[in-house]
Amino acid sequence: MDTERPRAGSGRCVIPECGKRIDPAYLMCAAHWRAVPNAIQRRVYLALNRYSNCPGSQAALDNLRAKQREAVESITGATAVHEAHA
Ligand SMILES: [Zn+2]
Repeated sequence: MDTERPRAGSGRCVIPECGKRIDPAYLMCAAHWRAVPNAIQRRVYLALNRYSNCPGSQAALDNLRAKQREAVESITGATAVHEAHA
């Protein structure tokens, strides 16, 4: 059983066009993680802490997944469209 560290992924960076091999405890490679806005990084860490404190909690896991998705979308999402205008 490894409920202690939630496995974020399969050992690959979740960014589809990247796919770099990483520690399965991590969601994405260091380069992509650095590209995630600080505010979102913080929310992912908070969710991860919450989940570590109550590993069996479905609510905490759902929250963590939601925050991870937010981080992924901050990179793969439609941000480029908005930035083009700025
Ligand atoms: Zn990557």
